[in-house]
Amino acid sequence: MNAFLDIRQIAKAFGGNQVLEAVDVQITRGEIVGLLGPNGSGKSTLLNVITGFTPADAGTVFFDGQRIDRLAAHRIVQTGMARTFQLPSMPTRMSVMEVAMAAATAHHGVFGTLLGTAAARTTERAARDKAAHLLNELLLTPVRDLPASALSGGQKKLLGIVCALMAEPRMLLLDEPTAGVHPNLRRDIVAALQRLNAQGMTLVIVEHDMHFIREVCTRCVVLDRGHIVASCRPDQLASNERVLQAYLGS
Ligand code: ADP
Ligand code: MG
Repeated sequence: MNAFLDIRQIAKAFGGNQVLEAVDVQITRGEIVGLLGPNGSGKSTLLNVITGFTPADAGTVFFDGQRIDRLAAHRIVQTGMARTFQLPSMPTRMSVMEVAMAAATAHHGVFGTLLGTAAARTTERAARDKAAHLLNELLLTPVRDLPASALSGGQKKLLGIVCALMAEPRMLLLDEPTAGVHPNLRRDIVAALQRLNAQGMTLVIVEHDMHFIREVCTRCVVLDRGHIVASCRPDQLASNERVLQAYLGS
């Protein structure tokens, strides 16, 4: 069976810094995969390559049978893959609701909106309904009229997830969704991700928190010095020689 996401021999260097050398990862539909690795091992870079924010130097990425490694980021979103960022930055003058709605415009193009056509108005109404629904799912309804920049770090992460979900993706890649997040909100994020997965969403999650990984991930892949050095269940990480080597150095 073909992998849902099939990453082959991805290489990426910045100047003389060979961050990704030959990365192979296959992900099956419905998995929740933890992408692990020491600081600076290239986890964010790999997400950037997969989602078209950084061009790879070599290698291929197939998503649901379609080659996507030459596509622009907004085209990749249209294939059904969305992502969140490690450090979400929020516009200071837009409300939470407006930020969520703007994500729909970003995903679907601005021309209709600019032209102010009837179709665009329908689209705007649909976007408003969808944003309201997702803000509710991710517990942001009480703050939907506040400036997005006034949110806590954790709430910004939740809003980042809302923005990604506005594209109605089938796969979601999250870069450190709970880093620096208050434990209460962390529980909410875990619950939201598990709900999404139960509804059929495939998830790839960069995360350091072992509690989170054990609770959420069905499998972990570990990045070290440009290669994937392990693929195992979360409970097998601690006894995996190559994982220990990656984190302890050698
Ligand atoms: P991780 O997310 O695993 O902590 P990153 O992917 O952010 O690691 O970074 C991996 C390496 O790539 C680091 O050495 C970092 O300095 C370098 N790097 C990442 N992005 C860039 C960039 N845009 N330009 C130059 N170097 C970069
Ligand atoms: Mg990172």
